[in-house]
Amino acid sequence: MSVDVLYANDRPGEYPDSYYHATATLLAPQAALDGDIVCDVCVVGGGYMGLSTALHLAESGLDVVLLEAHRVGWGASGRNGGQVGSGQRVEQDDLEIQFGHEKALALWELAEDSKNLVRSLINKHQIDAEYKSGIIHAELDRKNVRASHEYVELLRGHYNYDSIEPLDLQQIRDHLGSEAYFGGCLDTGSGHLHPLKFALGLAQAALNAGVRVFENTQVTEIVEGDSAQLRTAKGNVSAKFVVIGCNGYLGKLQSRVAARVMPINNYIVATEPLGKDLARSLIRDDVAVGDSKFVINYYRLSDDHRLLFGGGESYSYKFPTDISSLVKKHMLSVYPQLSNCKIDYAWGGTLGITVNRLPHIERLSANILSASGFSGHGVAMATLAGQLCSEAIATTATRFDVMASLPTWPFPGGAALRTPLLKLAMSWYAMRDKI
Ligand SMILES: Cc1cc2nc3c(=O)[nH]c(=O)nc-3n(C[C@H](O)[C@H](O)[C@H](O)COP(=O)(O)OP(=O)(O)OC[C@H]3O[C@@H](n4cnc5c(N)ncnc54)[C@H](O)[C@@H]3O)c2cc1C
Repeated sequence: MSVDVLYANDRPGEYPDSYYHATATLLAPQAALDGDIVCDVCVVGGGYMGLSTALHLAESGLDVVLLEAHRVGWGASGRNGGQVGSGQRVEQDDLEIQFGHEKALALWELAEDSKNLVRSLINKHQIDAEYKSGIIHAELDRKNVRASHEYVELLRGHYNYDSIEPLDLQQIRDHLGSEAYFGGCLDTGSGHLHPLKFALGLAQAALNAGVRVFENTQVTEIVEGDSAQLRTAKGNVSAKFVVIGCNGYLGKLQSRVAARVMPINNYIVATEPLGKDLARSLIRDDVAVGDSKFVINYYRLSDDHRLLFGGGESYSYKFPTDISSLVKKHMLSVYPQLSNCKIDYAWGGTLGITVNRLPHIERLSANILSASGFSGHGVAMATLAGQLCSEAIATTATRFDVMASLPTWPFPGGAALRTPLLKLAMSWYAMRDKI
């Protein structure tokens, strides 16, 4: 796939016109690579995964170079819903069936580590990421409320997680000014943040730790060897280790990862400022919300009392021309009272999903690691994956190996057919949502 197709929705080297871009203080641009350099570790990609890897490795005393095709935080990390969710993308009861309780517990504990890591990085590096506690999982189908309450019991009983409580019909309607939901749960051990501010804070911390960051520097080829060679338009990097963190923007750079991590697009709008009273009538306690729709609706309030609402997906490289109308339709299905409200920002981003919705973390060769495919659950997990890659290079691979032991499969149909096949499957689930 050509670079033009891969980045068809964006202006190269420029952040998208999102609410996040409008409200973050950007870092000074870092120069593109020009010439040949040598380092201990070269990290490809400046999202949470790459930035966290680079930061942790530099803190262990290694000489680290990070190459980013556009700007740091330009990809999904600067555009997402900001939800720092608990657990893996796959629920614990499913994980128990797939892997048994012991491994499910290990995966739960790693996910707990990931939330703790986000909060500790924010504190340690004084990142103004607007972190707030709480996510409500809202149930659209009355029949499923009981199952969602049983899941709360599972987490409380088997995982010792007491930061979650069930919500019945009255309680969820007290929390949310919507009649769409019949119950759910409130998880106060999770939270939400300003994603671009978090990414930029990590980038600043990496720079402070001595990482050499090159922006507008796309890696076009990685040549394996005792000392790997990374090719870019105007210079090459020779590195003892390489870490790839390109996620949904990988293209064809690494074919094994590309077969297992599929790019899909997701969309968000920011309303005009609603005023505190209207905003809090939608979400009483300023928590984030994710609902039970198959293509999930997720939303939260901004500091200036807008509703930031995410919903709708697409599976080709091209974003729809009218993102605002696409997402507004989903927003009005939850909050019809916002029908006259203006949308100030609408944007999309590309994330990476895997067949089983668990991250694809792999040692591709003795000195090349990759982590991606966080399947819409990467704010915390991609940040943790960076720490795990750093540990695997600098100290011990124990935690890296737990994640790397998860099975991942190539998407059926290969690069040519997987998009149409996924489209078909997703249309079926979208139809089920409508029924
Ligand atoms: C609209 C949207 C909403 C989301 N909502 C949530 C949410 O609420 N909660 C949650 O947990 N997750 C969410 N996600 C997913 C989350 O954003 C991602 O899992 C996470 O940001 C992945 O981080 P990353 O570093 O792996 O990838 P990215 O942030 O995408 O970074 C990859 C970087 O690699 C660079 N790159 C690619 N190829 C090259 C190359 N050849 N050379 C140099 N650089 C290269 C790209 O330019 C990009 O900056 C959402 C994603 C989207 C798009």
